[in-house]
Amino acid sequence: MTDILNLIKNRDPGEKEFHQAVEEVLESVQPVLDRNPQYRQDAVLERITEPERVIMFRVPWMDDQGQVHVNRAFRIQMNSAIGPYKGGLRFHPSVNLSILKFLAFEQVFKNALTTLSMGGGKGGSDFDPKGKSDNEVMRFCQSFMAELFRHIGPDTDVPAGDIGVGAREIGYLFGMYKKLRNEFTGVLTGKSLGWGGSLIRPEATGYGSVYFAAEMLATQNQTLEGKTCLVSGSGNVSQYTVEKIIEFGGKVVTFSDSSGYIYDEEGIDTDKLAFVKRLKNIKRGRISEYIDKYSEAVYTEADTSLDYNPLWNHKSDCAFPGATENEINETDATNLMKNGVHLVCEGANMPSTPEAINIFLDKKILYAPGKASNAGGVAVSGLEMAQNSMRLNWPADEVDRRLKMIMKNIHQTCLNASAEYGVSGNYMAGANIAGFTKVVNAMLDQGLV
Ligand code: NDP
Repeated sequence: MTDILNLIKNRDPGEKEFHQAVEEVLESVQPVLDRNPQYRQDAVLERITEPERVIMFRVPWMDDQGQVHVNRAFRIQMNSAIGPYKGGLRFHPSVNLSILKFLAFEQVFKNALTTLSMGGGKGGSDFDPKGKSDNEVMRFCQSFMAELFRHIGPDTDVPAGDIGVGAREIGYLFGMYKKLRNEFTGVLTGKSLGWGGSLIRPEATGYGSVYFAAEMLATQNQTLEGKTCLVSGSGNVSQYTVEKIIEFGGKVVTFSDSSGYIYDEEGIDTDKLAFVKRLKNIKRGRISEYIDKYSEAVYTEADTSLDYNPLWNHKSDCAFPGATENEINETDATNLMKNGVHLVCEGANMPSTPEAINIFLDKKILYAPGKASNAGGVAVSGLEMAQNSMRLNWPADEVDRRLKMIMKNIHQTCLNASAEYGVSGNYMAGANIAGFTKVVNAMLDQGLV
């Protein structure tokens, strides 16, 4: 295992997020490799850690003043052993090859866990939609798709949203794809309801992660009723995580964005949540504006000079990180334990550093890795693809029923795989082992391609 990791680190030395994601998976699957010596001979690790294809392109676009800008964009087509590449597009200034490769790598195992036929991919650009007009975002999306369209398709690669890519961006991207290809197909998921989107897709990642948390709690005869929960982020995933926690009787006390966080000791109820949805999705404002309306809450500005995030330092029972990678470090994890948290359920991708994860595993709390607990989003994207192929729309309760069933199955799959390899209750190991085994066996069935 060390030799593979060294090979990857030496080949692409700057890609620290990618190395982090690979290291976590390789550690978990060591017992699988020990039990299956042919995997080494077939170089499955070398193959699964190298993208099948990486596309990198420039995106020129014009702002409202007539000034031309150029952004860099990527699509990582990581693995197609079990289906067409599938994974989101991220528009954020931090986007680079390392971040997208880590996300694409995680996506491969996540998609395998859903049991749907989807390979793994991810893409995006260092374009920042924040502060841009709708017309600027549209011109950027059109220019982005003017290159990407030749590499994707409903049976090849089906992108979706991620940070900075919501219904508005998916609309502009789809419109350009349709014009260039002259075809109306399910090439993107996360579409609006009126033209091919699936009910429950916007809710799916957040709802799914809460369903997963409920399954974990049920193993200890507990529920979310009465539990105090910390939630980070205030975008798509966080909003619907909060919605479902409220429905399950929990009390959420935080929301954040990249500028800071609010702490509302009285709890965020459905009216307050509706305010946040309007603030973020329509007004595109900052979470600091929450205290203008609800003066009982406290706003704390993000402070990069601190080596911890104060959001994770409040008395609570459960934590639902829903913003971005590595947002919980070792100090944050220690603070969470000190404050009584006994469940961490990741809505974001890789929000916990390896040191933080070690603390969760040492303390034997209920810890769900994002590739299992946030798989509800891509699962319902898979259901959107199925509905598009059949040219049918399922009602909301049908999609929600399937989502619940998928999250229940993923939970059980993680538990079974962890038990089979002697690490019972370790959801991270279970998710990695189950996802890895499924993808690797498909790769071997298909020969050396
Ligand atoms: P959104 O763009 O809707 O929201 C992202 C939220 O996180 C915003 O509140 C944003 O604040 C905050 N944020 C983003 N980057 C940072 C940063 N560097 N530091 C602090 N805060 C940050 O994205 P989503 O809700 O869709 O995605 C959130 C996470 O969930 C990501 O990790 C994504 O990969 C993961 N995920 C999303 C899925 C989906 O279906 N949408 C599916 C599975 C995983 P600000 O507005 O200030 O940028």
